[in-house]
Amino acid sequence: MRGRRPGRVYSTLHGRTCPRCGWPEAQCRCSTPEPEAVPARLTVHLRIERAGRRGKTVTVVERLPSNPDFLGSLLRELRRACGTGGTVRERSVELQGDHRERLRTILEEKGWVVRG
Ligand SMILES: [Zn+2]
Repeated sequence: MRGRRPGRVYSTLHGRTCPRCGWPEAQCRCSTPEPEAVPARLTVHLRIERAGRRGKTVTVVERLPSNPDFLGSLLRELRRACGTGGTVRERSVELQGDHRERLRTILEEKGWVVRG
């Protein structure tokens, strides 16, 4: 008996499959690599950004691991602490407004090294 490859099994059931791995596009992991491990002691950078945002200031916490779960929970924590909105980027989180001093205190309390 010959084994069937995933692409053949699923292509008729779910339509388009990924040409690289043969899995349905919804299950394809080619473009979403495994989340990066989160080290116990992170070194992060704080930066203020203004340009290109209609003059609005955002505080960016950069050089974080590329890990959506980690970034999402960090963003929730920081939004609550600063009482502001924010966004997750691939390796950073952005908080609306200038919250450098507040964020520095919070992140250093985690044992992280904060630069910038
Ligand atoms: Zn794929």
